[in-house]
Amino acid sequence: MNKPEILPQNDIAGPAPRHQTTQVMVGNVAVGGGAPIVVQSMTNTDTADVDSTVAQVAALARAGSEMVRITVDREEAAAAVPHIRDALDKRGITTPLIGDFHYIGHKLLTEYPACAEALAKYRINPGNVGFKDKRDTQFSSIIEIANKNNKPVRIGANWGSLDQELLSKLMDENAASATPRDARAVTREAMVQSALLSAARAQELGMPKERIILSAKVSAVQDLIAVYQDLAARSDYAIHLGLTEAGMGSKGIVASSAALGILLQQGIGDTIRISLTPEPGGDRTLEVQVAQELLQTMGFRTFVPLVAACPGCGRTTSTVFQELARSIQDFIRDEMPAWKTKYPGVEELNVAVMGCIVNGPGESKHANIGISLPGTGEAPAAPVFVDGKKFRTLRGPTIAADFKALVIDYIDQRYGAGAKAPAAVTAAE
Ligand code: SF4
Repeated sequence: MNKPEILPQNDIAGPAPRHQTTQVMVGNVAVGGGAPIVVQSMTNTDTADVDSTVAQVAALARAGSEMVRITVDREEAAAAVPHIRDALDKRGITTPLIGDFHYIGHKLLTEYPACAEALAKYRINPGNVGFKDKRDTQFSSIIEIANKNNKPVRIGANWGSLDQELLSKLMDENAASATPRDARAVTREAMVQSALLSAARAQELGMPKERIILSAKVSAVQDLIAVYQDLAARSDYAIHLGLTEAGMGSKGIVASSAALGILLQQGIGDTIRISLTPEPGGDRTLEVQVAQELLQTMGFRTFVPLVAACPGCGRTTSTVFQELARSIQDFIRDEMPAWKTKYPGVEELNVAVMGCIVNGPGESKHANIGISLPGTGEAPAAPVFVDGKKFRTLRGPTIAADFKALVIDYIDQRYGAGAKAPAAVTAAE
């Protein structure tokens, strides 16, 4: 009988080299050309409501969104854009704003020049920029305004609003072909062509490649992967990745992570957006958190200290460990905006919160600081490990608060002004 082949460890591949793209500056943020993969998000407020939109952009920026897109769907929204920019600037928020235009973008950008000026990028959907004879005029008009204002554009094809004339043409050609492909493959080709033909037209109109970003969003994971692989193979435009209509809760997070994770591993993608449907009354910043966690868990960027926690099992029936893991995680995320400047490098920190002695000490030793809480039947003591060595044992009802205080002390000593070397931080019990 043949033995199954076991690959030696060093044959397990890491991420592919990044797909080489042309760098685009969106305001002060570099996208593509080897720049770190950028996290972006989109508001769901009425853009005409300046206060609500400013508040949400500020919340998204505070959560770590490096660019924020706002819809510009009508005159009141276009009129509000410069006021939104001003209000953000007054609060010291420099996050570039991207205008999302459909159907009447050419008109709004022409009639509201202050809006065209305040935005750092315009998003154009080639499937609904106009129809028949008007298409080229309206598309050209947006590109001319972008050229005049030195603004980049994202040409974003979308499966749900795909250019129907192009799709019909490709379907007819396919039907007449000796080896026709299935309709889905033809639709995928139409997505890619829609983005590439529009980008070529923008270049004909004088827009340099350094101001063009492409996307081709689909809601089905396998189609999305195929479309983006094709787009990357056929061009070197900077690429915006996103699964459209990802959905709500765990479904949206899993679908987006699966699709984007595969493409990022293949080196494809310069900026990402996770399109989550928020729960009613839910927090819009979740999409930023998911994007950051995806990039960080895959090793592309670091944003916040990671909290490793065991899943819990029958060996730990108390809720202390879940509560502590949640409390530490929330505490870190809340403090990060201030810590970024106060504690440079703190995003590299690893914290472990473990439920019992089985994996607790081992996992805690791999973290910068970790705690192994007592499982059912264990002595009511929680050893804390710092940089791989046992540091202290916590006991009693204040274990959670005491551990949080130790985490803060560790961060201050390791990353604060006058930080000590790791060995000096550790003072074993
Ligand atoms: S560390 Fe202990 S409590 Fe946590 S999953 Fe493993 S055995 Fe269960």
